[in-house]
Amino acid sequence: MNSKLKILITLFGLFTLINSVNSQTNTAPAKSNIPIEMLFPQGKSKALILSFDDGNIADKHLVKLMNDYGLVGTFHLNSNKLGTKDYLTKEEIKSLYKGHEVSGHTANHPSLNTLSKVDVIYEVLDDRKELERLTDYPVRGMSYPFGNTNDFVIEAITGLGIEYARTVGDTYNFSMPVDMLKWQPTIHLFGKTNYIPNDTANDSRELAQFYQLTTDFLKANSLALFYVWGHSWEYEGPGNKWAEVEKFFKMVSKNPDICYTTQIGLTDYINAYKSLKFSVDKSMVTNLSSLDVFVKINGKAFPIEARKTKTLNW
Ligand SMILES: [Zn+2]
Repeated sequence: MNSKLKILITLFGLFTLINSVNSQTNTAPAKSNIPIEMLFPQGKSKALILSFDDGNIADKHLVKLMNDYGLVGTFHLNSNKLGTKDYLTKEEIKSLYKGHEVSGHTANHPSLNTLSKVDVIYEVLDDRKELERLTDYPVRGMSYPFGNTNDFVIEAITGLGIEYARTVGDTYNFSMPVDMLKWQPTIHLFGKTNYIPNDTANDSRELAQFYQLTTDFLKANSLALFYVWGHSWEYEGPGNKWAEVEKFFKMVSKNPDICYTTQIGLTDYINAYKSLKFSVDKSMVTNLSSLDVFVKINGKAFPIEARKTKTLNW
């Protein structure tokens, strides 16, 4: 080896060494592209919402089944219908739905997109007020009667204390809500069989689709929200579906990977997640909320305790 080449190699080695020392002593550059994902409460990656409308007397059987399987539900009620034929009485509400969420569905079940603004406001507020009197807690969500909504309706309900509102536009997937006031569920629980009675081919198709989706949810390995909605009265009558409802409850119950939540419970949690305050380099975070929040940063899970600032060693 000639001397010039030796000098060149030595210089190159020295340059590399200086560079590596520099990169060790310099502070790490701020990283803006660190992937931060929400996990569900208790750090789980799956959540189940069960949501039923109308407050029919068949809710008694439904709630009993849910209690037997340790499941929680959100029940959307029409306060002016309570006590009329086929509906629960006002006196039953508080004890029946203990441990579940009572939520709004308007006072009289009109299609809100046909009403004037003042009537939309009346329907929503009158329902809230009466349900709050019956349950003794603030009622902060609703589902739209017939699933009907539009920008006009959403503008009318904004500012009325409604923090989420569910439509009936099934997504057939496990995604998170994009807009809490247009919250789309995953799938209607055996709804079609009720509208097309004695159609066995349709029946089996619907059941197969439903159980396929349930199996997909149970196997999912990324963040998955399974939002199932329906009406208890749909499982009565000639096309009796109670055995199927129970089969489904059994499939999804007592699973340590699943967070069982009401809709307002998940709404509060999502809001707490969204209000986390991260440092610029994502090495610290403050959780101002009263809920423990779980996040995944760079593939690693962290609990962020309520009202705490935490250092994140990801
Ligand atoms: Zn309804």
